[in-house]
Amino acid sequence: MDLEDHAEELASDLGVDNEEVVQGLRNLVEYSVPIDEAKQSLRRKYGDESVASGAPTTKQIGEITPDSSNVTVTARVLTAGERSIRYQGADHVIVEGKLADETGVIDYTAWEDFGLEPGDTITAGNAGVREWDGDPELNLGENTSVSFLEEPLEVPHDIGGKSTLRELQTGDRAVTISVRVLECERRTIDGRDGETEILSGVFGDASGRLPFTNWDPLPEIEEGVSVRIENAYVREFRGVPEVNVSEHSRVDALAESVDVGDDAPEMAIGDAVASGGVYDVCLVGNLLAVRDGSGLIQRCPECNRVIQKGQCRTHGGVDGVDDLRVKAILDDGTASVTVVLDDELTSEVYGGTLEDALEQARDAMDQEVVADTIRERIVGREYRVRGHLSVDEYGANLDASEFDESGDDPAERARTFLTEVGA
Ligand SMILES: [Zn+2]
Repeated sequence: MDLEDHAEELASDLGVDNEEVVQGLRNLVEYSVPIDEAKQSLRRKYGDESVASGAPTTKQIGEITPDSSNVTVTARVLTAGERSIRYQGADHVIVEGKLADETGVIDYTAWEDFGLEPGDTITAGNAGVREWDGDPELNLGENTSVSFLEEPLEVPHDIGGKSTLRELQTGDRAVTISVRVLECERRTIDGRDGETEILSGVFGDASGRLPFTNWDPLPEIEEGVSVRIENAYVREFRGVPEVNVSEHSRVDALAESVDVGDDAPEMAIGDAVASGGVYDVCLVGNLLAVRDGSGLIQRCPECNRVIQKGQCRTHGGVDGVDDLRVKAILDDGTASVTVVLDDELTSEVYGGTLEDALEQARDAMDQEVVADTIRERIVGREYRVRGHLSVDEYGANLDASEFDESGDDPAERARTFLTEVGA
């Protein structure tokens, strides 16, 4: 059933004008309210008596599933962060965060201003339940009553959303971080309100690094400074989590510089791929194969994409620009990724410059010899690769910043051992 069908059924049930119901449903659905909940809400609005029997049930957070209908919960507010959304052409401020009791933690969105603050203990009567990514979430809307309790509910969780960069995941909201600004540039983008200036760059702390966007450039954020940021949120951008600092975030300069680790976290390839993307990570595995389109390649001078036989998919016949790159498959037994080496790293593993590669190809009258040389050097060996891992429907790609033969090579270890014992 599409929205119009739902509306027609509902309008005839309630004896109300069809167009009015369509409009009502569409508004709620644009708010991401599930269709069944939207229909219930309209039934209530038009005074349908049958809804009164669907009274909310009192539940503990651990008992709530995506299938639960409206619930009443008593919980501690762990986080509460404001965020602007565009709704019916106007900006609207919502509050998002986490609620907890002894049995669990649940994300919530408050569509009305209930004045929630981290640390508050509340009873939310008649909160809606919706599903997000397989998990239940609470909607506190116009039909929800919120009362504040004097006695704080003890919960086994920290209040306030403090987190390290490594712990952050796409979808996290109202987080508090202390970071150093490692890179920062001002850019002009085509936003929904025309051209607008933003800041983008990289944050670091002792646990790792993550890219960020600051939608409303703040003077406190500049390269080299350390800042504490309250109420940031995390969304996915180009396959990796990105910290978003909005006009609702609070940013304070820190007197002490935040330590930033030099090392990227090392992960099993299976875990890294399952996480959906990691900005800066180390993967160790066996190099199984060098893929087609490696070695000496040609790029389109217009769009920089790799071309085949002088043909760009977008720009047709072009004079290709010679370049070096490697796409190789790295596997550690838990999963595999495609490692992409840029011209510099390719030059290192090839053991020669672009000029050398062109000369080798001319001599052999075949440019595949360059890829073959690289294959002979790296396939079958174990490598430790650092870079940005992005995961999309076409697979997992690791854009390498460092590519080193692993010191954990078993044969190497055996040789070292034999040398040490003087064999
Ligand atoms: Zn092109």
